[in-house]
Amino acid sequence: MPNPLGFVGAWLDRADQLRTDPQAFAAACVDPRARCLALDGVDFVPGDGGGLRWEPLDPADDRTLMLLGRDDRGIPYFVREAPRGARIDARSRTVMRLLPLLSPQDLALYGGARSLVDWHARHGFCAVCGSPTGIFRAGWGRRCGGCGAEHFPRVDPVVIMLAEHDGRVLVGRQRQFPPGMFSALAGFVEPGESLEEAVARELFEEAGIRVSDVTYVASQPWPFPSSLMVGCRAVATDPALTLDETEIEAAMWVDRAEVRAALGGDMEAPFMVPPPLAIARYLLEDWAGWTP
Ligand SMILES: [Zn+2]
Repeated sequence: MPNPLGFVGAWLDRADQLRTDPQAFAAACVDPRARCLALDGVDFVPGDGGGLRWEPLDPADDRTLMLLGRDDRGIPYFVREAPRGARIDARSRTVMRLLPLLSPQDLALYGGARSLVDWHARHGFCAVCGSPTGIFRAGWGRRCGGCGAEHFPRVDPVVIMLAEHDGRVLVGRQRQFPPGMFSALAGFVEPGESLEEAVARELFEEAGIRVSDVTYVASQPWPFPSSLMVGCRAVATDPALTLDETEIEAAMWVDRAEVRAALGGDMEAPFMVPPPLAIARYLLEDWAGWTP
């Protein structure tokens, strides 16, 4: 079995019924047991015993509360919108250094909260008419004060895939990767495309290969800022590569022994695998039948 996927498995009930019940939501907002996730911008603040830091609700804080969910005792958990004017770098991965401090369940909860807070910070104005928008639905939407349009937190699907040919899979590297690291190829799904079509298009654009038999493997939210990584496999009809060098610096076909050597950190391996939280690593572990 591969390692568990990062950012999957949040431990709270999302309690959707509270989002649409103003009385119940108001009661949750004054529940003395309620807790609020401490954030610095969109980065998490480590708690005393490691893990996330949860604080009692501060009545003097006038930033809007957004409901993350309830635990099995009914205790509500919130996060607040970012302070006005806060500098948020949603693509910053400096927090990646701290992520190994979190349990998988906390990591999943934090990832969702981060994407949500970031989305609100960037959607203060209506995309239809330009008027200011305000939070509604317990934090899971914004409504325009001018035209009434409703906007909901976005999720951007990204396909990430291993093309397979004759017992080998294709890995590639982008210029900004750490030296020696190769990963699965990936790209955003475009309007008017199925996941299967996006996989085939990206592999043709980036590596010049044609594929068939696209299959789904697993998915993972990736909160930088709001991607949903959809992991797939596909079968290449011909292994000859034509790289788009603006996207891919180098690519190569690797067999299972080479992938296992890379996963095991073997210095003789022909490449380095992506870090454990990345679904690309999961795809390689899954394909190679890797047991950590
Ligand atoms: Zn509007």
